[in-house]
Amino acid sequence: MIDLRSDTITRPASQMLAAMAAAEVGDDVLGDDPTVIALEKRTAEILDKQAAVYMPSGSMTNQVAIRAHTEPGDEILIDANAHSYLLEGGGPAALSGVSCRLLAGVRGIFTSNDVRGALRPKNYHFPRTKLVCVENTHNRGGGSVWPIQTVAEVESAAREAGLKMHLDGARLWNACVATGLAEREYARHFDSVSVCFSKGLGAPVGSALAGSAEFIDRARRFRKLFGGGMRQAGIIAAGALYALEHHRDRLAEDHANARKLAEGIAALPGIELDPATVQTNIVIFRVTSMPAAALAEKLHAAGVYVLATGPDTIRAVTSLEVNSEDIPQALKAFRDVLKSG
Ligand SMILES: *Cc1c(COP(=O)(O)O)cnc(C)c1O
Repeated sequence: MIDLRSDTITRPASQMLAAMAAAEVGDDVLGDDPTVIALEKRTAEILDKQAAVYMPSGSMTNQVAIRAHTEPGDEILIDANAHSYLLEGGGPAALSGVSCRLLAGVRGIFTSNDVRGALRPKNYHFPRTKLVCVENTHNRGGGSVWPIQTVAEVESAAREAGLKMHLDGARLWNACVATGLAEREYARHFDSVSVCFSKGLGAPVGSALAGSAEFIDRARRFRKLFGGGMRQAGIIAAGALYALEHHRDRLAEDHANARKLAEGIAALPGIELDPATVQTNIVIFRVTSMPAAALAEKLHAAGVYVLATGPDTIRAVTSLEVNSEDIPQALKAFRDVLKSG
């Protein structure tokens, strides 16, 4: 099987496993797991923030951030297809009691005008707007990369209105490999940044939330409240630390593979896809000749795993589980399936 469902499918390779097996551990809830401390310190350093806190998932880092930035009844501004709104179980409403004001981003990217257009007059009838959430790269946007200038403009609009800025940087690593920018150059526009180690970086578990020391202290309380305090978490943090040091640069291979895949798929009948929009490791395309679920099923029978993300859309993601020889083989399966029906 060629597994293009997600970059979360990556399994730890032997050197990562060796680092995990050798990890020194303590009790992280009591604050003395040395490997977790090392991972948090290194993550904060890369993002140029005062502190970071390790958590079991990216959904948790995002939801803890939203909770720590807001009070029940507040409102956040977020793209209509953002992961934190759409794919985290209704977390903002359930866990923070906030409403989401949805912005109509293009491939997940909105502008400072969208933010200004959503601002409310100062009047106690309205919900209090507190936070702008940006997702980079944007998952449902097809791995789209935020131009740094657009981030800076959105930040200006947010600051003028006294709003905080949160970055869902589950795939910030991919945005940085695609643009050549350092993580801190994106991160400096945000009060909080969430990053995942378990996507393209290939660690088995975990994400981190970074920000000011005061903010992260507050976030630690909500991590505990949400059930995310882990004990000998150094075992998994060691995998994340290994990934951080060894797997960031190789994301370029995933991007090259995704681009090749997109170019091949775009040339096939019954597909709508502009390969020029594929900037990182995610390829999302429309299927016009059959329901997306039917195509996914046929591809599965032909040895290729993809995810139908809507009635007529399919997502294919490259990762370190996919090598360059897999791409022509996957394309052959696409060709066979689309020709036959
Ligand atoms: C995967 C993902 C997350 C977090 O997912 P978990 O499965 O909870 O770790 C957050 N944001 C984006 C954009 C993602 O793609």
